Amino acid sequence: LLLPIGAFMAAFIIGIVVWLSRKRLSPLGELAIAVRNREFIVHYQPIVELASGACVGAEALVRWRRPDGSLVRPDLFIPLAEESGLIMPITDQVIEAIIADLAALLRMDRNLHIAINLCAGDVTSGRILDVLQDRLSGARIEAAQIWLEATERGFIDIDAARATLIQARERGHMVVIDDFGTGYSSLQYLEGLPMDALKIDKSFIDTIGRDSATSSVTPHIIEMAKTLDLRIVAEGVETEEQAEYLRERDVHFGQGWLFSKPLPAGEFIRYYQNAKTRAGSGWGNVRVVA
Ligand code: C2E
Ligand code: MG
Ligand code: MG
Ligand code: MG
Repeated sequence: LLLPIGAFMAAFIIGIVVWLSRKRLSPLGELAIAVRNREFIVHYQPIVELASGACVGAEALVRWRRPDGSLVRPDLFIPLAEESGLIMPITDQVIEAIIADLAALLRMDRNLHIAINLCAGDVTSGRILDVLQDRLSGARIEAAQIWLEATERGFIDIDAARATLIQARERGHMVVIDDFGTGYSSLQYLEGLPMDALKIDKSFIDTIGRDSATSSVTPHIIEMAKTLDLRIVAEGVETEEQAEYLRERDVHFGQGWLFSKPLPAGEFIRYYQNAKTRAGSGWGNVRVVA
């Protein structure tokens, strides 16, 4: 029942916004039309197990493909989408794109994971979990193959956020706290949150090997995650020096230009299959959910 109501609400919001901006197309009006015309596609950035070099999955990163073929980066439209409520149908289109692009591969290889970015509204309402359950079961993809990335911006209503994340884990998803270190998280605050992994923000990875005030924070974040028994994903790994530093500290996963930029679906599939062949016998032992 919730699904049709959600779809109805989305159609309603799109309708209102398109109607309001009929005369002069505002950025919001353009975005609403893009939603209606389904102009959103997904690129996939490989996530690598640092110890073995095996590709364990990818992060799904949305792009707005305009009718002229140009791609708009999410930073330029996600904030507006969140403010206006258009993010709901965009998230739905992201999930549909993942299934259209990768369902066959995900069914064939149960060790492959895709991480989805949730916005504050998704985390507060929990609606996204029902959408996922519906779409994933239809495509015979396991919940454990979908990681959910939430940022602290999503925890404005902390009780609602906690309820959604608990339910997400009960259904088998892995919960990742994204952009970790950039918010206000204290250790105490974190301890109460249901989660499996921390994604250390690129700004901390950038400081590795540099002499700066923040560079001394990075090892503490790693230690803290270990104390809480959390997996760690390092974001924005660009140099071999950074990867080596992270490997030495037993950081589990890395993602960044050193391994690959975000790729269109077809290129990601090829990357994944090649990486798998390269990894050889060590492959397949990657258990993520404890
Ligand atoms: P994020 O979740 O922190 O994603 C990581 C961003 O860092 C991505 O930017 C990625 O392309 C970039 N990146 C990864 N490795 C490197 C690197 O080695 N060097 C550099 N310079 N950059 C790297 P992108 O794709 O532009 O996405 C920006 C943000 O937009 C994301 O940050 C996420 O917060 C948001 N976003 C993307 N897709 C979605 C989505 O489907 N839904 C929602 N709600 N937000 C999304
Ligand atoms: Mg993310
Ligand atoms: Mg991130
Ligand atoms: Mg980030």
